[in-house]
Amino acid sequence: MSVVLKFGGTSVASAATLEQVRTIVAQEHDLSGGLVCVVSATAGTTNALLQLAHASALPGTDVAAQCEAIRARHLTIADELVPVSHRASARECVTTLVAELQRYCESMRTLEECTPASLDAVASMGERLSSTLLSHALQATGVDCVEVRATNVIHTDSTFMQAKVDPVRTHDAASSFIVPHLTANRVVVTQGFTGSDAEGRTTTLGRGGSDASAAIIGAAIGATRIEIWTDVSGVFSADPRLVPSARPIASLSFAEIRELALYGAKVLHPDTILPAVEHDIPVLVKNTFTPADPGTVILAQPVSHGALHAVSLMRPCCVVSGSHDEVQGVASLDHLRTHLLVTGSSREHGIAVIHTPDAKHATDVAVAVTGTTLTMEQCAVVICTGPDASRVDTTANIVSKLAHLDVHGILTGVSPYSCFVVVAEADAVEALQCLHQLV
Ligand code: ASP
Repeated sequence: MSVVLKFGGTSVASAATLEQVRTIVAQEHDLSGGLVCVVSATAGTTNALLQLAHASALPGTDVAAQCEAIRARHLTIADELVPVSHRASARECVTTLVAELQRYCESMRTLEECTPASLDAVASMGERLSSTLLSHALQATGVDCVEVRATNVIHTDSTFMQAKVDPVRTHDAASSFIVPHLTANRVVVTQGFTGSDAEGRTTTLGRGGSDASAAIIGAAIGATRIEIWTDVSGVFSADPRLVPSARPIASLSFAEIRELALYGAKVLHPDTILPAVEHDIPVLVKNTFTPADPGTVILAQPVSHGALHAVSLMRPCCVVSGSHDEVQGVASLDHLRTHLLVTGSSREHGIAVIHTPDAKHATDVAVAVTGTTLTMEQCAVVICTGPDASRVDTTANIVSKLAHLDVHGILTGVSPYSCFVVVAEADAVEALQCLHQLV
C-alpha cells in the first residue's frame, strides 16, 4: 500500500503553500502506508536557473548576485516554514546547495560554455532546494521522513534536457533506495524532473517533467495510486473561462485524456503518466488549495458516466472542401499535417479541418488551395469527448442542441472518443456552451 504524491511549482511556491503541502502529506501519512512525495521547484525557479545557466557562459554576468537571489528566496521560505528546531539545518542545506550551484556556474563562466549537460545540472537545483525545505518541515513536525536523491533512483539515457528513463534500472534502484523506507512507514521526499545517466551525470526529463517522475516512481514501486497535486480541482468538463458551468470530471479514461490533450484542453500531458497507465495505477488530479475537492481520477480502463465527459474548442481553424483527391492532396502536405484536426470524405468529396493558430498557418492553407478547385472557409471546431462520442444518438443530441446555429459539419466515427462539430467562428462559444449541456 504505497501512494505517490506529486506537488507542482505553485504548490511549493511559498512558505504558506508549502505548509499546505506539509499538512496534506501528514494527513495522508496517517491514512495510508508508505508515501513518496515528488516535488517540483518553487514556481519560477527552474526558469531563473536556466536563465542563470545561459548567462553564466557570458562574460560580465554577476553569478554571485543571481545565486544570492535564489538563496534569499529559499532562506525566507525556510524561516517562515520550518519550525525552529530544524530551521538552522534547513538554512544550512539551502546555503550548501546554492554554494554548489554558484561554484558550478562560475566554472561555466571560466569555460565560457553552457552545454545541455550543464543546463541540466543547474536546473536540477530547483527541485533539490524545494525538497530539502519540505523534508525539514515534515521532520520538524514529527513526520518520519527521509530525503532520497532522484539521481539515485531515476536512471536515464544521456539525452540531456529530454532524457528517456530506463525502467528496469529505475525499478531496481527504487527497490533499494525507496521501498525499504516505505516498508518502515517512512515518508520519502524526492525531486521531480531529475535523474542521472549511466555515468552518474544529472539529467532532466524535459520541462514539466515532475509528473513523469511521479508516474515512473509509482510504476517502479507498484504504487496503489498516484496523486498529482496542482492548483486546479481536476480535469474540467470545459474551459471555465468560456463555459462558466464547467466542473471537474469525476473520472476519465486515459484514452479520453489523450484526446482532450490533443484537441486543445489544458490537461496534464498524457504521455507523462503513461507508465502509470501501463501498470494500471490510477492517477488522481487534486487541488492543493482546496484538498477537500474530490478531483479527477484517470484510469486505464474506459469509464462511463454519460455519453460525453467534456467539450473543448479549437480555433481558429480552416475547413477545406471539394474533390476527394484534392482535399487528400492538401491534407497530406507535410507542413499542414501536424495541424490537421480531422478529415472526412466520400468517394467524390472531402473536407479537411486544419487548425490555424496564427496568420502563417492560415496563409499556408491558402497557398495550398491556390490553383485547385477547393474552397476554404474560416471556422471553429467544438470537440465533444466521451465514451459514446461516436454513437448515433449522441450525434442526434448534438444536432438538436445546435438546431439554431449554422453547423458546417459533424464528423463522427473518426475517433472512438471524440466527435468534431464544425461551426462558424462567430458561433464558437455559443456552440461550446450549448454542447456542454450534454456533458
Ligand atoms: N521544475 C520543472 C519545470 O519547471 C519540472 C516541473 O515542475 O515539472 O519544468
